[in-house]
Amino acid sequence: MGGTHRSRDVELGGPAAAADAQARLDVIAQDLLDHLPCPSEPCATCTRLVPGTGSATADVVIVGEAPGAAEDRSGVPFVGNAGKLLDRLLEEAGLVRPDVFVTNVVKARPPGNRDPKPDEVAHHWPWLQAQLDVLQPRLLVPLGRHALGRFAPKADRISDVHGRVLERDGRRLFPLYHPAAALHNPGLRETLSADARALGDALRAGA
Ligand code: URA
Repeated sequence: MGGTHRSRDVELGGPAAAADAQARLDVIAQDLLDHLPCPSEPCATCTRLVPGTGSATADVVIVGEAPGAAEDRSGVPFVGNAGKLLDRLLEEAGLVRPDVFVTNVVKARPPGNRDPKPDEVAHHWPWLQAQLDVLQPRLLVPLGRHALGRFAPKADRISDVHGRVLERDGRRLFPLYHPAAALHNPGLRETLSADARALGDALRAGA
């Protein structure tokens, strides 16, 4: 679904473009929601699918791994503890949620929050691809190594490439450690803050 280029409306900008982009995102979200029932394990065991939320004209798209328990209950990405930290990081970057679009690689919670399997990632990829085709972000921010792995080769380790702009496959990435990693390893908290400030600096510099 979706095309590879911005529609003419989006190129023109303005309220009509925003409404068009929002309408297209709504179609993608509805397509995802209509996809159940599905035998793929996360789809089969989740409470609800979580398409993503935020601005249809966002310059920045944040891509996490998969919904957790709080997101599975609410249908909104990043509303649990990792989400609260994400909100603080956005603030440190000079952003608020309505400025960005937040979504996940996999749109259904894997049982027990296990890592999504490659076939599950492939299964959910068309919806993320379609969202990105509409949003065409200036910067795509993958959170953690799993999300990064969808947009960059294996050789790009999150420990090497976090906190800076990376051009991969025609996209401008700004990888960050996953906020949940800093909840388990408080040593990463300051790194995440520094990276969030660097994200803000990059955007203000026109990245
Ligand atoms: N972790 C993620 O990767 N995504 C969410 O939506 C919540 C937690």
